[in-house]
Amino acid sequence: ADLKGKVDPDWCPGCGDYGVLAAVQKALVDLQIPNHEVATISGIGCSSNFPGFINTYGMHTLHGRSLAVATGFKMANHGMTVLVTGGDGDGFGIGGNHFTHTMRRNVDLLYIVMDNQIYGLTTGQTSPTSRRGMKTKSMPFGNLESPINPISMALAAGATFVARGFSGEQKHLTELIKQGIQHKGFSFLDVFSPCVTYNHDNTYQWFRPRVKKLEDDASYDATNWLGAMERSLEWGDEIPIGKFFERDDVPTLHGAEPVLQTGPLVHQEMRVPAEAAKGFIEELM
Ligand code: SF4
Repeated sequence: ADLKGKVDPDWCPGCGDYGVLAAVQKALVDLQIPNHEVATISGIGCSSNFPGFINTYGMHTLHGRSLAVATGFKMANHGMTVLVTGGDGDGFGIGGNHFTHTMRRNVDLLYIVMDNQIYGLTTGQTSPTSRRGMKTKSMPFGNLESPINPISMALAAGATFVARGFSGEQKHLTELIKQGIQHKGFSFLDVFSPCVTYNHDNTYQWFRPRVKKLEDDASYDATNWLGAMERSLEWGDEIPIGKFFERDDVPTLHGAEPVLQTGPLVHQEMRVPAEAAKGFIEELM
């Protein structure tokens, strides 16, 4: 194979993000989606380096702004499969407002958060999902704040596909990614992706005996929003992973936009006379 230009991930050995990268690659191959029909968009953080390590179109944007850029991308060319990748600090802290509004708009993309419950790139500060009492560089006597619950938040904000994976469960994670890509609407996938360097509480060894797949519970109904909300609150000796919720009766943002019914914007004729557009562009520059 021609490996010219290939960039290997520079994550620490054992970082959970390797598992997510492998699962995304496998999902795209399984679904036979050509690379040139995929865009991977990220913010800032260890996991946000993701677009540099996968052979798709990619944009490494500003801290917390990946969902805003991805929304613009999807509205400009809704023929593309759009993946958004990042961490818990980037997505739930700096980008918390975009998280809420992109979900209620039902933008058709898959948002994968590599949730390691700490800021890794900046060397180990408390993040929005760090557990109460956890000792970090920024809170050496223990975290005084309660963590957010990304699954409950996604359900409350109207996300139409909500799931949780674990990078130590590759096959299961790959299936969730495939389902998230195929879902028509906003798909949220929170992935326990251990930071082996800075989070010594929530390790692979800590998660492994606790994670329980919702798919193994025959009575679980992923169309029941209230049931999903209830299960999202579970945290302790057993922590559910899998698909919490899915509905397909909400129009996507691009599906609801009349201008886009004749095809992606990038393939449409400009509706402004070329001369007028030229003047406008010059004015902006
Ligand atoms: Fe992964 Fe943590 Fe290393 Fe960042 S610091 S690459 S999150 S293990």
